[in-house]
Amino acid sequence: MDPSMVEGLSSSGMFSGNPYFSAGFGLIGVGAVLAILRQGARRAADLTRRQILVTLEIPSKDKSYQWVLRWLSQQHQSTELISMNQNTGMKKFIKNATKPRQLAVETLFQQHDNGNVSAEFSFVPGPGKYFFKFQNCWIQADRVRETRMLDLTNGAPWETITLTTLNRDREVFQKILEKAQNQAMELQEGKTVIYTSVGPEWRPFGPPRKKRLLSSVVLDQNLADMIVTDVNGFIHNEQWYEQRGIPYRRGYLLYGPPGTGKTSFIQALAGELGYNICVLNLSERGHTDDRLNHLLTIAPERSIILLEDIDAAFTKNREKTDLSSSSVHLSMITFSGLLNALDGVSSPEERIIFMTTNHIDRLDPALIRPGRVDLKVYLGDATKYQIQTMFNRFYPEYPESLALEFSELLKDYSVSTAQLQGHFVLFKDSPYSALDNIDSLISSLPPP
Ligand code: ADP
Repeated sequence: MDPSMVEGLSSSGMFSGNPYFSAGFGLIGVGAVLAILRQGARRAADLTRRQILVTLEIPSKDKSYQWVLRWLSQQHQSTELISMNQNTGMKKFIKNATKPRQLAVETLFQQHDNGNVSAEFSFVPGPGKYFFKFQNCWIQADRVRETRMLDLTNGAPWETITLTTLNRDREVFQKILEKAQNQAMELQEGKTVIYTSVGPEWRPFGPPRKKRLLSSVVLDQNLADMIVTDVNGFIHNEQWYEQRGIPYRRGYLLYGPPGTGKTSFIQALAGELGYNICVLNLSERGHTDDRLNHLLTIAPERSIILLEDIDAAFTKNREKTDLSSSSVHLSMITFSGLLNALDGVSSPEERIIFMTTNHIDRLDPALIRPGRVDLKVYLGDATKYQIQTMFNRFYPEYPESLALEFSELLKDYSVSTAQLQGHFVLFKDSPYSALDNIDSLISSLPPP
Protein backbone atom coordinates (compact mmCIF):
# COMPACT_ATOMS: atom_id res chain seq x y z
CA MET A 1 0.00 0.00 0.00
CA ASP A 2 1.14 3.48 -0.72
CA PRO A 3 2.44 4.87 2.61
CA SER A 4 1.12 8.31 1.80
CA MET A 5 -2.36 6.81 1.62
CA VAL A 6 -1.96 5.31 5.09
CA GLU A 7 -0.90 8.62 6.39
CA GLY A 8 -3.88 10.29 4.74
CA LEU A 9 -6.23 7.88 6.50
CA SER A 10 -4.60 8.25 9.85
CA SER A 11 -6.99 10.13 12.12
CA SER A 12 -4.42 12.35 13.61
CA GLY A 13 -3.48 13.55 10.25
CA MET A 14 -7.03 13.87 8.88
CA PHE A 15 -8.98 15.25 11.94
CA SER A 16 -6.35 17.19 13.80
CA GLY A 17 -5.98 19.53 10.96
CA ASN A 18 -9.72 19.99 10.63
CA PRO A 19 -11.08 22.73 12.98
CA TYR A 20 -14.73 21.67 12.50
CA PHE A 21 -14.03 18.17 13.76
CA SER A 22 -12.09 19.38 16.76
CA ALA A 23 -14.92 21.72 17.73
CA GLY A 24 -17.46 18.88 17.30
CA PHE A 25 -15.53 16.58 19.61
CA GLY A 26 -15.19 19.37 22.08
CA LEU A 27 -18.93 19.95 22.11
CA ILE A 28 -19.74 16.25 22.45
CA GLY A 29 -17.32 16.05 25.33
CA VAL A 30 -18.87 19.01 27.12
CA GLY A 31 -22.36 17.60 26.49
CA ALA A 32 -21.39 14.23 27.91
CA VAL A 33 -19.83 15.79 30.99
CA LEU A 34 -22.92 17.93 31.54
CA ALA A 35 -25.21 14.90 31.17
CA ILE A 36 -23.14 12.97 33.70
CA LEU A 37 -23.18 15.93 36.06
CA ARG A 38 -26.93 16.34 35.66
CA GLN A 39 -27.52 12.65 36.30
CA GLY A 40 -25.19 12.79 39.25
CA ALA A 41 -27.01 15.81 40.64
CA ARG A 42 -30.34 14.08 40.20
CA ARG A 43 -29.08 10.96 41.92
CA ALA A 44 -27.59 13.04 44.70
CA ALA A 45 -30.90 14.91 45.06
CA ASP A 46 -32.80 11.62 45.11
CA LEU A 47 -30.41 10.21 47.68
CA THR A 48 -30.67 13.28 49.86
CA ARG A 49 -34.40 13.26 49.48
CA ARG A 50 -34.52 9.64 50.54
CA GLN A 51 -32.25 10.37 53.47
CA ILE A 52 -34.11 13.45 54.62
CA LEU A 53 -37.71 12.76 53.66
CA VAL A 54 -40.01 9.89 54.31
CA THR A 55 -43.24 9.15 52.46
CA LEU A 56 -46.35 7.16 53.18
CA GLU A 57 -48.50 6.00 50.32
CA ILE A 58 -52.15 5.20 50.94
CA PRO A 59 -53.89 3.57 47.97
CA SER A 60 -57.62 4.04 47.47
CA LYS A 61 -58.08 0.30 47.98
CA ASP A 62 -57.00 0.60 51.61
CA LYS A 63 -59.63 1.03 54.29
CA SER A 64 -57.82 4.02 55.77
CA TYR A 65 -58.00 5.95 52.50
CA GLN A 66 -61.43 7.46 53.14
CA TRP A 67 -60.56 8.15 56.77
CA VAL A 68 -57.40 10.02 55.83
CA LEU A 69 -59.16 11.92 53.07
CA ARG A 70 -61.82 13.17 55.46
CA TRP A 71 -59.26 13.98 58.10
CA LEU A 72 -57.18 15.92 55.58
CA SER A 73 -60.19 18.00 54.61
CA GLN A 74 -60.16 19.39 58.13
CA GLN A 75 -56.43 20.01 58.29
CA HIS A 76 -56.41 23.02 56.04
CA GLN A 77 -59.03 24.65 58.25
CA SER A 78 -56.91 24.20 61.35
CA THR A 79 -53.71 25.33 59.63
CA GLU A 80 -55.52 28.48 58.64
CA LEU A 81 -56.13 29.05 62.33
CA ILE A 82 -52.44 28.61 63.08
CA SER A 83 -51.65 31.14 60.41
CA MET A 84 -53.79 33.77 62.20
CA ASN A 85 -51.12 34.04 64.89
CA GLN A 86 -48.30 34.87 62.50
CA ASN A 87 -47.25 38.25 61.23
CA THR A 88 -48.97 39.42 58.09
CA GLY A 89 -46.41 38.21 55.56
CA MET A 90 -46.23 34.77 57.11
CA LYS A 91 -49.97 34.59 57.33
CA LYS A 92 -50.29 35.01 53.61
CA PHE A 93 -47.57 32.49 52.85
CA ILE A 94 -49.03 29.80 55.04
CA LYS A 95 -52.52 30.35 53.75
CA ASN A 96 -51.41 30.03 50.16
CA ALA A 97 -49.19 27.14 50.86
CA THR A 98 -51.63 25.04 52.81
CA LYS A 99 -54.99 25.44 51.16
CA PRO A 100 -55.75 22.67 48.72
CA ARG A 101 -56.31 24.43 45.43
CA GLN A 102 -58.74 21.85 44.22
CA LEU A 103 -61.60 20.56 46.26
CA ALA A 104 -63.71 17.57 45.43
CA VAL A 105 -67.31 17.39 46.46
CA GLU A 106 -68.97 14.34 47.95
CA THR A 107 -72.73 14.54 47.74
CA LEU A 108 -75.27 12.64 49.72
CA PHE A 109 -78.44 12.69 47.66
CA GLN A 110 -81.78 11.40 48.78
CA GLN A 111 -85.16 11.43 47.15
CA HIS A 112 -87.92 10.98 49.67
CA ASP A 113 -91.24 9.31 49.11
CA ASN A 114 -93.08 12.61 49.19
CA GLY A 115 -90.97 13.71 46.23
CA ASN A 116 -88.72 15.99 48.25
CA VAL A 117 -85.08 15.85 47.40
CA SER A 118 -82.34 16.53 49.89
CA ALA A 119 -78.65 16.76 49.29
CA GLU A 120 -75.74 17.21 51.68
CA PHE A 121 -72.37 18.33 50.39
CA SER A 122 -69.02 17.78 51.98
CA PHE A 123 -65.68 18.89 50.62
CA VAL A 124 -62.56 16.79 50.54
CA PRO A 125 -59.20 17.76 49.05
CA GLY A 126 -59.18 17.17 45.30
CA PRO A 127 -56.20 15.85 43.38
CA GLY A 128 -53.11 18.02 43.86
CA LYS A 129 -50.40 18.88 46.36
CA TYR A 130 -50.64 20.98 49.47
CA PHE A 131 -49.00 21.38 52.85
CA PHE A 132 -50.23 21.35 56.38
CA LYS A 133 -48.74 21.32 59.83
CA PHE A 134 -49.54 18.55 62.27
CA GLN A 135 -47.98 18.39 65.74
CA ASN A 136 -45.23 20.77 64.65
CA CYS A 137 -44.29 18.74 61.58
CA TRP A 138 -44.79 20.08 58.09
CA ILE A 139 -46.37 17.52 55.85
CA GLN A 140 -47.00 17.50 52.16
CA ALA A 141 -50.12 15.71 50.99
CA ASP A 142 -50.37 14.70 47.38
CA ARG A 143 -53.59 13.19 46.11
CA VAL A 144 -53.02 11.61 42.74
CA ARG A 145 -55.68 10.22 40.47
CA GLU A 146 -54.42 7.84 37.84
CA THR A 147 -56.06 8.64 34.55
CA ARG A 148 -55.08 5.43 32.85
CA MET A 149 -55.43 2.97 35.66
CA LEU A 150 -58.79 1.76 36.87
CA ASP A 151 -59.55 -0.24 39.93
CA LEU A 152 -60.81 -3.30 38.11
CA THR A 153 -63.02 -4.37 40.97
CA ASN A 154 -65.26 -1.32 40.82
CA GLY A 155 -64.28 0.65 37.74
CA ALA A 156 -63.29 3.73 39.77
CA PRO A 157 -60.05 5.55 38.91
CA TRP A 158 -57.13 4.35 40.95
CA GLU A 159 -56.03 6.92 43.50
CA THR A 160 -53.34 7.37 46.06
CA ILE A 161 -52.62 9.87 48.78
CA THR A 162 -48.93 10.28 49.49
CA LEU A 163 -47.86 12.00 52.67
CA THR A 164 -44.29 13.26 52.86
CA THR A 165 -42.45 14.62 55.84
CA LEU A 166 -38.97 14.85 57.27
CA ASN A 167 -37.39 11.53 58.11
CA ARG A 168 -36.95 12.53 61.74
CA ASP A 169 -40.74 13.02 62.03
CA ARG A 170 -41.68 9.64 60.63
CA GLU A 171 -43.69 8.59 63.72
CA VAL A 172 -46.18 11.28 62.80
CA PHE A 173 -47.66 8.97 60.15
CA GLN A 174 -48.80 6.47 62.72
CA LYS A 175 -50.42 9.29 64.68
CA ILE A 176 -52.16 10.64 61.59
CA LEU A 177 -53.60 7.23 60.77
CA GLU A 178 -54.80 6.82 64.34
CA LYS A 179 -56.34 10.30 64.39
CA ALA A 180 -58.07 9.72 61.08
CA GLN A 181 -59.41 6.38 62.26
CA ASN A 182 -60.56 7.74 65.61
CA GLN A 183 -62.29 10.61 63.91
CA ALA A 184 -64.08 8.21 61.58
CA MET A 185 -65.12 6.03 64.52
CA GLU A 186 -66.28 9.02 66.57
CA LEU A 187 -68.34 10.20 63.66
CA GLN A 188 -70.03 6.81 63.59
CA GLU A 189 -70.59 6.53 67.31
CA GLY A 190 -74.25 6.69 68.13
CA LYS A 191 -74.98 6.86 64.43
CA THR A 192 -76.10 4.56 61.70
CA VAL A 193 -73.82 4.01 58.75
CA ILE A 194 -75.59 3.29 55.50
CA TYR A 195 -73.53 1.18 53.13
CA THR A 196 -74.25 0.67 49.47
CA SER A 197 -72.60 -1.78 47.15
CA VAL A 198 -70.04 -0.35 44.78
CA GLY A 199 -68.98 -3.13 42.46
CA PRO A 200 -68.10 -6.10 44.63
CA GLU A 201 -67.62 -4.16 47.86
CA TRP A 202 -69.58 -2.20 50.43
CA ARG A 203 -68.89 1.52 50.78
CA PRO A 204 -70.40 3.98 53.26
CA PHE A 205 -73.00 6.12 51.57
CA GLY A 206 -72.54 9.65 52.82
CA PRO A 207 -71.65 10.48 56.40
CA PRO A 208 -73.09 8.37 59.25
CA ARG A 209 -76.61 9.47 60.14
CA LYS A 210 -78.03 10.27 63.50
CA LYS A 211 -79.80 7.25 64.91
CA ARG A 212 -83.52 7.35 64.39
CA LEU A 213 -85.40 6.71 67.60
CA LEU A 214 -87.66 3.72 67.56
CA SER A 215 -90.38 5.77 69.23
CA SER A 216 -90.36 8.18 66.29
CA VAL A 217 -91.83 5.49 64.06
CA VAL A 218 -95.39 4.82 65.09
CA LEU A 219 -96.53 1.34 64.14
CA ASP A 220 -99.76 -0.28 65.20
CA GLN A 221 -99.96 -1.40 68.79
CA ASN A 222 -97.21 -3.84 69.88
CA LEU A 223 -95.99 -4.38 66.32
CA ALA A 224 -92.64 -2.67 66.83
CA ASP A 225 -92.08 -4.55 70.11
CA MET A 226 -92.87 -7.83 68.44
CA ILE A 227 -90.26 -7.26 65.69
CA VAL A 228 -87.61 -5.97 68.08
CA THR A 229 -88.12 -8.98 70.37
CA ASP A 230 -87.84 -11.33 67.43
CA VAL A 231 -84.61 -9.76 66.13
CA ASN A 232 -83.11 -9.71 69.63
CA GLY A 233 -84.07 -13.35 70.08
CA PHE A 234 -82.23 -14.16 66.89
CA ILE A 235 -79.11 -12.16 67.70
CA HIS A 236 -78.72 -13.79 71.10
CA ASN A 237 -79.26 -17.36 69.97
CA GLU A 238 -76.24 -18.13 67.83
CA GLN A 239 -75.63 -21.42 69.61
CA TRP A 240 -79.09 -22.70 68.86
CA TYR A 241 -78.44 -22.36 65.14
CA GLU A 242 -74.92 -23.73 65.44
CA GLN A 243 -76.01 -26.84 67.31
CA ARG A 244 -78.62 -27.65 64.72
CA GLY A 245 -76.40 -26.87 61.75
CA ILE A 246 -78.83 -24.25 60.48
CA PRO A 247 -77.43 -21.21 58.65
CA TYR A 248 -77.39 -18.38 61.16
CA ARG A 249 -79.70 -16.07 59.29
CA ARG A 250 -83.15 -14.60 59.61
CA GLY A 251 -85.24 -12.95 56.97
CA TYR A 252 -87.97 -10.36 57.44
CA LEU A 253 -90.48 -8.94 55.03
CA LEU A 254 -92.25 -5.67 55.70
CA TYR A 255 -95.07 -5.19 53.27
CA GLY A 256 -97.90 -2.75 52.76
CA PRO A 257 -98.74 0.48 50.95
CA PRO A 258 -96.10 3.19 50.48
CA GLY A 259 -95.53 5.70 53.27
CA THR A 260 -96.39 3.38 56.13
CA GLY A 261 -92.95 3.48 57.72
CA LYS A 262 -91.28 0.34 56.36
CA THR A 263 -87.94 1.97 55.59
CA SER A 264 -88.11 4.30 58.58
CA PHE A 265 -88.75 1.40 60.91
CA ILE A 266 -85.71 -0.53 59.62
CA GLN A 267 -83.58 2.56 60.18
CA ALA A 268 -84.90 2.95 63.68
CA LEU A 269 -84.42 -0.74 64.39
CA ALA A 270 -80.79 -0.52 63.24
CA GLY A 271 -80.35 2.44 65.60
CA GLU A 272 -81.92 0.55 68.47
CA LEU A 273 -79.66 -2.48 67.93
CA GLY A 274 -76.55 -0.39 67.22
CA TYR A 275 -76.37 -1.94 63.74
CA ASN A 276 -75.56 -0.42 60.38
CA ILE A 277 -77.55 -0.90 57.18
CA CYS A 278 -76.32 -2.34 53.88
CA VAL A 279 -78.69 -1.34 51.12
CA LEU A 280 -78.58 -3.71 48.21
CA ASN A 281 -80.03 -2.63 44.92
CA LEU A 282 -80.71 -5.79 42.96
CA SER A 283 -81.29 -3.90 39.75
CA GLU A 284 -77.85 -2.33 39.74
CA ARG A 285 -75.92 -2.65 36.55
CA GLY A 286 -73.13 -5.19 36.66
CA HIS A 287 -74.53 -7.34 39.47
CA THR A 288 -74.23 -11.07 38.92
CA ASP A 289 -75.21 -14.08 41.02
CA ASP A 290 -71.63 -14.51 42.18
CA ARG A 291 -71.31 -10.90 43.14
CA LEU A 292 -74.58 -10.99 45.08
CA ASN A 293 -73.37 -14.02 46.98
CA HIS A 294 -70.04 -12.36 47.62
CA LEU A 295 -71.67 -9.14 48.85
CA LEU A 296 -73.90 -10.99 51.28
CA THR A 297 -70.91 -12.94 52.53
CA ILE A 298 -68.69 -9.93 53.14
CA ALA A 299 -71.31 -7.51 54.50
CA PRO A 300 -69.85 -5.57 57.44
CA GLU A 301 -70.40 -7.10 60.85
CA ARG A 302 -73.40 -5.96 62.81
CA SER A 303 -75.38 -4.79 59.86
CA ILE A 304 -78.86 -5.30 58.50
CA ILE A 305 -79.04 -6.13 54.82
CA LEU A 306 -81.89 -4.28 53.19
CA LEU A 307 -83.46 -5.27 49.90
CA GLU A 308 -85.94 -2.51 49.17
CA ASP A 309 -88.94 -2.84 46.87
CA ILE A 310 -88.07 -6.42 46.12
CA ASP A 311 -91.07 -6.69 43.79
CA ALA A 312 -89.37 -4.28 41.38
CA ALA A 313 -86.62 -6.81 40.78
CA PHE A 314 -88.43 -10.14 40.77
CA THR A 315 -92.11 -10.83 40.55
CA LYS A 316 -94.16 -13.99 40.38
CA ASN A 317 -93.70 -14.27 36.66
CA ARG A 318 -89.90 -14.31 36.75
CA GLU A 319 -89.32 -14.88 33.06
CA LYS A 320 -91.50 -11.97 32.14
CA THR A 321 -89.75 -9.59 34.50
CA ASP A 322 -86.33 -10.77 33.46
CA LEU A 323 -87.09 -9.92 29.88
CA SER A 324 -89.24 -6.87 30.23
CA SER A 325 -87.33 -4.95 32.87
CA SER A 326 -84.24 -3.50 31.36
CA SER A 327 -82.75 -2.73 34.75
CA VAL A 328 -82.95 -6.33 35.86
CA HIS A 329 -81.61 -7.30 32.51
CA LEU A 330 -78.53 -5.20 33.17
CA SER A 331 -78.00 -6.60 36.63
CA MET A 332 -77.92 -10.22 35.41
CA ILE A 333 -78.99 -11.61 38.76
CA THR A 334 -81.09 -14.71 38.21
CA PHE A 335 -83.96 -15.64 40.46
CA SER A 336 -82.26 -18.84 41.56
CA GLY A 337 -79.09 -16.83 42.22
CA LEU A 338 -81.06 -14.58 44.53
CA LEU A 339 -82.60 -17.55 46.34
CA ASN A 340 -79.17 -19.14 46.80
CA ALA A 341 -77.71 -15.93 48.14
CA LEU A 342 -80.64 -15.52 50.52
CA ASP A 343 -80.28 -19.05 51.80
CA GLY A 344 -76.98 -17.83 53.11
CA VAL A 345 -75.15 -21.07 52.52
CA SER A 346 -71.79 -19.40 52.41
CA SER A 347 -72.11 -16.65 54.98
CA PRO A 348 -70.04 -17.30 58.06
CA GLU A 349 -71.64 -14.51 60.09
CA GLU A 350 -75.12 -13.90 61.31
CA ARG A 351 -77.29 -12.40 58.61
CA ILE A 352 -80.32 -10.25 59.19
CA ILE A 353 -82.06 -9.58 55.93
CA PHE A 354 -84.98 -7.20 55.59
CA MET A 355 -87.01 -6.95 52.43
CA THR A 356 -89.71 -4.42 51.74
CA THR A 357 -92.44 -4.41 49.16
CA ASN A 358 -95.60 -2.51 48.39
CA HIS A 359 -97.02 -5.53 46.55
CA ILE A 360 -96.65 -8.84 48.35
CA ASP A 361 -99.07 -10.40 45.88
CA ARG A 362 -96.55 -9.90 43.10
CA LEU A 363 -93.81 -11.85 44.83
CA ASP A 364 -92.93 -15.39 43.93
CA PRO A 365 -93.90 -17.67 46.85
CA ALA A 366 -90.44 -19.28 46.66
CA LEU A 367 -88.88 -15.98 47.61
CA ILE A 368 -90.86 -15.54 50.78
CA ARG A 369 -91.20 -19.09 52.01
CA PRO A 370 -90.16 -19.78 55.62
CA GLY A 371 -86.40 -20.08 55.84
CA ARG A 372 -85.97 -17.20 53.46
CA VAL A 373 -88.52 -14.93 55.06
CA ASP A 374 -89.12 -16.00 58.64
CA LEU A 375 -91.34 -13.14 59.69
CA LYS A 376 -93.76 -11.24 57.49
CA VAL A 377 -95.21 -8.05 58.91
CA TYR A 378 -97.95 -6.00 57.33
CA LEU A 379 -97.68 -2.25 57.80
CA GLY A 380 -100.95 -0.80 56.64
CA ASP A 381 -102.66 2.55 56.58
CA ALA A 382 -102.82 4.37 59.86
CA THR A 383 -105.05 2.78 62.49
CA LYS A 384 -106.94 4.81 65.08
CA TYR A 385 -104.15 4.03 67.54
CA GLN A 386 -101.47 5.30 65.14
CA ILE A 387 -103.41 8.48 64.28
CA GLN A 388 -103.83 9.36 67.93
CA THR A 389 -100.27 8.45 68.89
CA MET A 390 -98.82 10.52 66.06
CA PHE A 391 -101.09 13.45 66.92
CA ASN A 392 -99.94 13.34 70.54
CA ARG A 393 -96.29 13.07 69.52
CA PHE A 394 -96.60 16.23 67.43
CA TYR A 395 -98.62 18.17 70.02
CA PRO A 396 -97.54 16.75 73.37
CA GLU A 397 -98.71 19.73 75.39
CA TYR A 398 -102.33 19.67 74.31
CA PRO A 399 -105.27 17.66 75.65
CA GLU A 400 -105.50 14.13 74.27
CA SER A 401 -109.16 14.72 73.45
CA LEU A 402 -107.96 16.64 70.37
CA ALA A 403 -106.22 13.51 69.11
CA LEU A 404 -109.39 11.56 69.67
CA GLU A 405 -111.44 14.12 67.76
CA PHE A 406 -108.91 14.13 64.92
CA SER A 407 -108.91 10.34 64.57
CA GLU A 408 -112.73 10.28 64.63
CA LEU A 409 -112.86 12.63 61.66
CA LEU A 410 -110.61 10.29 59.70
CA LYS A 411 -112.27 7.05 60.71
CA ASP A 412 -113.77 6.35 57.28
CA TYR A 413 -110.62 7.11 55.31
CA SER A 414 -107.44 5.31 54.38
CA VAL A 415 -104.60 7.58 55.32
CA SER A 416 -100.94 6.65 55.44
CA THR A 417 -98.70 7.63 58.32
CA ALA A 418 -96.56 9.57 55.83
CA GLN A 419 -99.61 11.65 54.84
CA LEU A 420 -100.40 12.27 58.48
CA GLN A 421 -96.85 13.40 59.10
CA GLY A 422 -97.11 15.76 56.12
CA HIS A 423 -100.30 17.31 57.56
CA PHE A 424 -98.84 17.74 61.05
CA VAL A 425 -95.68 19.31 59.67
CA LEU A 426 -97.83 21.78 57.74
CA PHE A 427 -99.62 22.84 60.91
CA LYS A 428 -96.80 22.18 63.32
CA ASP A 429 -97.55 25.17 65.52
CA SER A 430 -101.13 24.42 66.37
CA PRO A 431 -103.18 21.25 66.73
CA TYR A 432 -106.26 23.41 66.29
CA SER A 433 -105.11 24.42 62.81
CA ALA A 434 -104.43 20.74 62.05
CA LEU A 435 -108.01 20.00 63.08
CA ASP A 436 -109.54 23.01 61.35
CA ASN A 437 -107.76 22.15 58.12
CA ILE A 438 -108.43 18.46 58.15
CA ASP A 439 -110.48 18.87 54.97
CA SER A 440 -107.34 19.65 53.01
CA LEU A 441 -105.96 16.28 54.11
CA ILE A 442 -109.22 14.48 53.43
CA SER A 443 -109.48 15.94 49.95
CA SER A 444 -106.19 14.24 49.06
CA LEU A 445 -107.41 10.81 50.21
CA PRO A 446 -109.35 8.24 48.22
CA PRO A 447 -113.09 8.42 48.93
CA PRO A 448 -114.26 6.05 51.68
P1 ADP B 1 -92.29 3.31 53.34
O1 ADP B 1 -90.94 2.71 53.39
O2 ADP B 1 -93.33 2.45 53.97
O3 ADP B 1 -92.70 3.74 51.97
P2 ADP B 1 -91.09 5.47 54.76
O4 ADP B 1 -90.49 4.82 55.93
O5 ADP B 1 -90.17 5.77 53.61
O6 ADP B 1 -92.30 4.64 54.22
O7 ADP B 1 -91.80 6.80 55.23
C1 ADP B 1 -91.88 7.99 54.47
C2 ADP B 1 -91.97 9.19 55.40
O8 ADP B 1 -93.13 9.12 56.21
C3 ADP B 1 -90.82 9.30 56.36
O9 ADP B 1 -90.48 10.66 56.46
C4 ADP B 1 -91.34 8.83 57.69
O10 ADP B 1 -90.79 9.58 58.74
C5 ADP B 1 -92.82 9.06 57.58
N1 ADP B 1 -93.54 7.92 58.16
C6 ADP B 1 -94.11 6.93 57.48
N2 ADP B 1 -94.66 6.04 58.30
C7 ADP B 1 -94.41 6.47 59.55
C8 ADP B 1 -94.72 5.96 60.83
N3 ADP B 1 -95.40 4.81 60.97
N4 ADP B 1 -94.33 6.66 61.90
C9 ADP B 1 -93.66 7.80 61.76
N5 ADP B 1 -93.35 8.35 60.57
C10 ADP B 1 -93.71 7.69 59.47
